[in-house]
Amino acid sequence: SLVPDYLEGVLADVRQDASGQPAQYIPELAAADPDRLAAVFATVDGRVYGAGDSDAEFTIQSISKPFVYALALADRGFAPVLDKIGVEPSGEAFNQISLERETGRPLNPMINAGAITAHSLAGLDGMGAATRVERVVDGLSAFAGRRLAVDESVCASEMEHAHRNLAIAHMLRSHGILEEDPRDVVDGYVRQCAVLVSTRDLAMMAATLANGGRNPVTGEQVVDARVVRQVLSVMATCGMYDAAGDWATQVGIPAKSGVAGGLIGALPGQIGIATFSPRLDTHGNSVRGVSLFGRFSADMGLHVMEVP
Ligand code: GLN
Repeated sequence: SLVPDYLEGVLADVRQDASGQPAQYIPELAAADPDRLAAVFATVDGRVYGAGDSDAEFTIQSISKPFVYALALADRGFAPVLDKIGVEPSGEAFNQISLERETGRPLNPMINAGAITAHSLAGLDGMGAATRVERVVDGLSAFAGRRLAVDESVCASEMEHAHRNLAIAHMLRSHGILEEDPRDVVDGYVRQCAVLVSTRDLAMMAATLANGGRNPVTGEQVVDARVVRQVLSVMATCGMYDAAGDWATQVGIPAKSGVAGGLIGALPGQIGIATFSPRLDTHGNSVRGVSLFGRFSADMGLHVMEVP
């Protein structure tokens, strides 16, 4: 059939490129099979097309960031969240230790400083750290339409190497952006990043965004359309870190990458797309994922700025 054949063809093309390598900062990610490759399309009317290793699981990592930002906005409302996390592209690496000069706010929710803060704002005031993690995993599961679990070994290993994220969290605490023990928040953020997903799950999560916050298969309204507009806008400007400008001009799809090799894109009213390939470029984005999205955008005219 048409779509799977197309997907298989594009996967075969990008397979030629063996540049980049899996994330090296923890052994669990460095040991990933670098040749795993998958692509999945999920439409807003619930059709799903996959090719390659589309059911293989890996950790969601930074792709959790837009979804947990959405949960924070849904749980708290806009004002308290915007008070603590900006929406300006930083043009910097994902783990940059930088905050807004006057306020100490993280520049946006897609860099680690903003994502750690967003994690702290998910759920309700006074919720303990463990209950908040449950809220986050439940929320990510609702986006996917399937019960998701945490990879405990990735989580434990990441916690042992969390010095940079701990430094960021302590800085946030010193500015009063975090109001609790920084270690508890980083612990929760690291668990959030260690949630296991398949490329199929990620495509469904992206399709839920594309569908205004309603999962196209389960029918659950996970967050409202106003929240989704905010999240997609931030993905469009900040989702690819210091490669955001190249991505915006060449691919033109609101997107988010993760260091385990996942990549999602969401086209409002149309489709969620996800790819998986662990070899990363110098920005921490999947090499083959970026190529795949470039092809999808060009072949199907998906660039949001293109006049139809
Ligand atoms: N857990 C990773 C971190 O916080 C996620 C980073 C990423 O996917 N870019 O460093």
